[in-house]
Amino acid sequence: MTLSSTDISVLTSIQQNDGISRKALAEKTGLSQASITKITHKLVSEAYIREGERIGNGLGRKEVLLYPNPHKFKFLGIDIGGYRVRMALADYRYELTHYEQFPVDELEQQEDVLQELMARIAAFLEAAGAPAVDAIGVSVTGIIDMEKRRILNIPNLNRWNDVNIVEGLSKRFEAPVYLEESGRTMAFAEKLLGKAKEAADFIVVHIAYGVVAGIFINGQPLRGVNNVGGLLGHITVDEKGIRCRCGNYGCLENIVTFPMLEGRYRNMSGTANPGPLPEAYRINDKTALDVCLEAGKSIGIALSNVINLFNPEIIYLGGPVMEQFPIIFEEVRRTVLLRANRFATVGLKLEASSFGDRQGILGALTLAGASYLESRMEP
Ligand SMILES: [Zn+2]
Repeated sequence: MTLSSTDISVLTSIQQNDGISRKALAEKTGLSQASITKITHKLVSEAYIREGERIGNGLGRKEVLLYPNPHKFKFLGIDIGGYRVRMALADYRYELTHYEQFPVDELEQQEDVLQELMARIAAFLEAAGAPAVDAIGVSVTGIIDMEKRRILNIPNLNRWNDVNIVEGLSKRFEAPVYLEESGRTMAFAEKLLGKAKEAADFIVVHIAYGVVAGIFINGQPLRGVNNVGGLLGHITVDEKGIRCRCGNYGCLENIVTFPMLEGRYRNMSGTANPGPLPEAYRINDKTALDVCLEAGKSIGIALSNVINLFNPEIIYLGGPVMEQFPIIFEEVRRTVLLRANRFATVGLKLEASSFGDRQGILGALTLAGASYLESRMEP
């Protein structure tokens, strides 16, 4: 049975407000009580949603809360980062039932990365006792083609040029496969399940072994004509900087990622083996703090430019670099307030993103879920 666009918006609202009454749903969606009654009846009878407990509304009447039915679908998420590949199975409430991760180098060492990835996925599904899934979402920290079928390039890796991943995975695993750049999928996760539910203009930035960003404008993800929109990690912040693996010089990613911070700390400390940066940071080592302040300033400058261009309401910052070195977050805030246009920063919020280390894999899973639902929409 197909779904109308109104059915999908009601379903999305139930997903976003896990446990919501019909009355609250009518208020959220702007639909009449009668329409909500009709649509939720259809969604319950087709097992998309289930009824939960009754709550009192203060007037003696009880209202039933509605939830997505976890058993309706099983999704597989694959998140291909510059350092790790993560795989997870989730139910329709996006609870992770199985999870695995491994260094992306283990694929890079193979002649055919796609074949090796598929072998890993097959083993993962077998171990999870899940022979079939309803949809697969693949997020990748790289450039994908406009039809969202092939990975064109991952700047930090060597063997991912022109990889026909959608065709490969859909044939092998007999499920629809959806591909998207990972900054955008992290923003999808923030919008569907995280703090950005009500936000129309927001940016998600994730900094780990690379820098990715997803930009939402007017409630829509920014793609640009070649699908490259939001490539924050490869904008120039130091024109005299070193050459990046993307070919450009002085990219943000050459300054603020985990390995770059460690390298900078080693160079600046003047000793051969100064130990890990996080430890030095914890004891307030001056060099460690300086390295972090430098990074915070670079991120702040890059974001100030983005803020002036797009005037977002909220920027969500996440990833291990942000989490391990809170001083970077504060320096980003300070730099943004200094450099971005003062009218653009009125009411601007900088917040931690919702899912930390899981932002990427939840992005791949919500891509699978939302795209699959859309594919069931009546023409
Ligand atoms: Zn670059």
